[in-house]
Amino acid sequence: MSFHVYNSLTRRKERFESREQGVVRMYNCGPTVYSRAHIGNLRSFLFADVLRRWLEYLGYEVHQVMNITDVGHIQGDADEGEDKLDAQAKKDRLDPREIAKRYADEFLADVAALGVRAPEVYPRATDHIPEMLAIIDDLIAKGNAYQVGQDVYFDVTSFPNYGRLSGNKLEDLEGGARVEVREEKRHHADFALWKSDPKHLMKWDSHFGPDGFPGWHIECSAMAIKHLGEELDIHTGGEDNVFPHHECEIAQSECHTGKPFARYWMHAKFLQVEGGKMSKSLGNVYTLGDLEERGHSPRSLRFTLIRGHYRQPLNFTWDIVAEQKAALEKLDELYSRLVRAADGQGTPGDDDAGRALLDDSIETFESGMNDDLNVPRAVSALFQLRAHVLEGALGRTVAAAGVDFVRRANDVLGVIDVDANAAGGEANEAIEALVQARLDARASKDWAASDRIRDELVAQGIVIQDTADGTIWRRQAE
Ligand code: AMP
Ligand code: ZN
Repeated sequence: MSFHVYNSLTRRKERFESREQGVVRMYNCGPTVYSRAHIGNLRSFLFADVLRRWLEYLGYEVHQVMNITDVGHIQGDADEGEDKLDAQAKKDRLDPREIAKRYADEFLADVAALGVRAPEVYPRATDHIPEMLAIIDDLIAKGNAYQVGQDVYFDVTSFPNYGRLSGNKLEDLEGGARVEVREEKRHHADFALWKSDPKHLMKWDSHFGPDGFPGWHIECSAMAIKHLGEELDIHTGGEDNVFPHHECEIAQSECHTGKPFARYWMHAKFLQVEGGKMSKSLGNVYTLGDLEERGHSPRSLRFTLIRGHYRQPLNFTWDIVAEQKAALEKLDELYSRLVRAADGQGTPGDDDAGRALLDDSIETFESGMNDDLNVPRAVSALFQLRAHVLEGALGRTVAAAGVDFVRRANDVLGVIDVDANAAGGEANEAIEALVQARLDARASKDWAASDRIRDELVAQGIVIQDTADGTIWRRQAE
């Protein structure tokens, strides 16, 4: 069984092989920090997080970098127009650096709340201007880029593979060139590596002149190469990044290094809301804050966003988040039941028969994840296991192995609050004592006392369930 991923570059699923055995170098396109990340952005970051966690499950040492774009991302992903940060800064009458700081901080808080494991580095574009200029100089020296006044463009005709990732053909892109006669570019598809504009708020002096700032694409090439080296294993982003962003990253990186830039390109499909596009005019560009205002926890959002397959469009609705919350409670219950069965509570099932059931769930989970991160299939393995646990089908030894498996599975999914349900410890003893006192009260038909103790437990965030195997409890996670 090996890990297969869908590679946008070859348009098929391929067996994953890292360049260096046991080590993965992965770059994820991160946020442009001019506003708070919306749930579509978060889907793309969570996809990268689950991918990293799955690689770790498989035993790889993962070197992961996710950038923070704080300059040069022009509205509409174009060359001409307003820089998203500049535009926001003008609107709010603030320095763009303050805007960047504010939203970068919010981004970091949001992803931390969502259980995203921090990559090795979150590099910021504005901290890498010298690295970008060095690549631009090299591209000019090699004849892949040219200067017009104080601007520098990449010459797409100098890179025969331009268009391979997106499927765009230069001939088709050329159409526009004839229309825009006054274009200073040699080819309509040539893209800016460096621009000069005295009105731009964030600008740097360079040998090209004063008032310069980088193009968005060169930023990612420079940060990836600096932090991960010239050859990456995986590069990710949302589907809108395929063109022009990643197409341009490949062109400039490969012309600069003479080496293939990334072996696998993986793209998350867009998130939709209530079956349509997210848009400001519809007022449905939701953030984690909007979810929390409506009483949803970060973990419900995390589960909602990772539960669909990343290459399927995901339709966000409020009903779905509520459903995921209920589903998560079932997974919490699976874990706490396994812990108790491993502890000898409940009906002991047969270890031999139980072993086959557990192995089957593990197989479904692993083969699902290995099949291009099929999270829906992997999650179904946990629900399958839950059904067996509810039937009391696992013996005590197998239940202990089940606890171990669910913990490992949750290292990948990051949605079950396993620590809250860990057995033992003083706090748990106190709860066990209350649960027992309630049972004693019920046995002596003292319903008032039983209800009172139950309320006390609920106040402490404890859920009690009276089952055929006796009373079980677990901590209510958010
Ligand atoms: P940006 O902040 O615009 O640079 O986008 C950050 C990341 O979010 C990029 O990888 C985008 O491709 C991704 N993204 C943007 N909108 C969506 C969406 N609706 N669904 C999924 N990913 C998205
Ligand atoms: Zn990027």
